[in-house]
Amino acid sequence: MRTIGLTPVNDHPTLTDGFGRRFNYLRLSITEACNFRCNYCLPEGYCPDTKEQPLTVDEIRRLVSTMSQLGTRKIRITGGEPTLRKDLVEIVEVCASTPGIEQVALTSNGYRLAQQLPDLAKAGLTALNLSADSLDPRSFQTITGHDKLTAVLNALDLSTKLGLKTKLNSVLMQSFNANEISNFVRFVKDRPISLRLIELMRTNDNAEFYQQQHVSATGIRDTLINQGWLAQNRSQLAGPAEEFTHADYTGSIGLIMPYSKNFCADCNRLRIAANGNLHLCLFNEANSNIRRYLGHDENSAFVDHLQQVVLGKWQGHQLENNYSGTTSQLAMLGG
Ligand code: SAM
Ligand code: SF4
Repeated sequence: MRTIGLTPVNDHPTLTDGFGRRFNYLRLSITEACNFRCNYCLPEGYCPDTKEQPLTVDEIRRLVSTMSQLGTRKIRITGGEPTLRKDLVEIVEVCASTPGIEQVALTSNGYRLAQQLPDLAKAGLTALNLSADSLDPRSFQTITGHDKLTAVLNALDLSTKLGLKTKLNSVLMQSFNANEISNFVRFVKDRPISLRLIELMRTNDNAEFYQQQHVSATGIRDTLINQGWLAQNRSQLAGPAEEFTHADYTGSIGLIMPYSKNFCADCNRLRIAANGNLHLCLFNEANSNIRRYLGHDENSAFVDHLQQVVLGKWQGHQLENNYSGTTSQLAMLGG
C-alpha cells in the first residue's frame, strides 16, 4: 500500500516526502533559552523576544506518540540549552517510554550536566552530544563566554562511563580552533567517543562572522584519508556526518559538511522548535505550528496534516546562495 506522505519501512508506515526521503529522526527543541554566548550563535547571550511558552510535557507526549506512529525511531532533545528545563528528566522518560522510540539523544553545552546525567540515563537517555569548540580552556572561554571546559569534559567522561553513546561537537572556525585539529584527533585516540567536526553554517544573525570564519572540512577529510582513516557506511538512524574510523584509534571522527554536494539527498530529519513550529529544514521558513493538534489525544487531523506538510520539503537547502530562511541563529531550532 502506498499512502501519500507515508511509505512502509520494516512494516511501519514512515513519513515520506516528494523525493522519497523517509523521516525516522525527530530533532525536538525544548527551549530557546541558553546560558552560553557562543560567538557564532548567541554572541550577545539569549534575549527572550517572545512570551510564547515552550511545549509542555503533555504536549510533548502527544507529539512523540504521533510521530512514532509515523515512523520516528530516534529523538534528539536540543535547544537552546535543554538542561535549563527543570522537567528534562521527565521529558526524556516520556520519549524513551513511547512505543517505537529506539533512541533518545540529548545535545547540550554540558554546563551543570554532570549532576543530571545519572538520572537522565536512568530515564532512558541513550546518547549524548556535548559541544566544545576548543580543548584549550582560554579559547573555550573566548568562544562561549564561560570558563567551563573542565565541567564539559567531566560530563563527557561520565557519559561514557554510564554507557551512553557519546559525541563531542566542535564547530570549525578559522581564527578560533582551525589550528587545533590535530589536538582534537588525538583526543579520540583512547576515548570511546565520536568527534563531530561541523562546518560553520551561515544564519541571518552571523553573516559577517560566517564570511570571516567559515572553514571547509574537505581538507580535513583528505588529511584523514591520507592518515589511514576509513569512511564508514551510514546507518539508518544516523545524523548527517560522514564517519571515519582508524585501527589505531578507539574513537571515531564525523565530518558535518552542509556545503558539500548532495548533503540533503538522504535527509531523514524533521525539526520541531520549542514553540511547536514544524521545520522541514534548518534553513527554511517554519512550515506550520502544530501546537493546535497537541491539546487532546485524538490525532487523525494531525496525522493528515503531517503527511501533507512533508510533501512540501525542498530538495535541498539554499545555503550556497546565502539563503538561511527565517533562521536567525541555531539556538531557536536546536541545530
Ligand atoms: N546548546 C546546546 C549545544 O550547544 O550543544 C544545543 C543547541 S546548539 C544550537 C546545537 C549544536 O549546534 C551545537 O553543537 C552548536 O555548536 C551547533 N551550532 C550552533 N550554531 C551553529 C552554526 N551557525 N553553524 C554550525 N553549528 C552550529
Ligand atoms: Fe547556546 Fe548551544 Fe548556541 Fe552555544 S551553540 S549559544 S550553547 S544554543
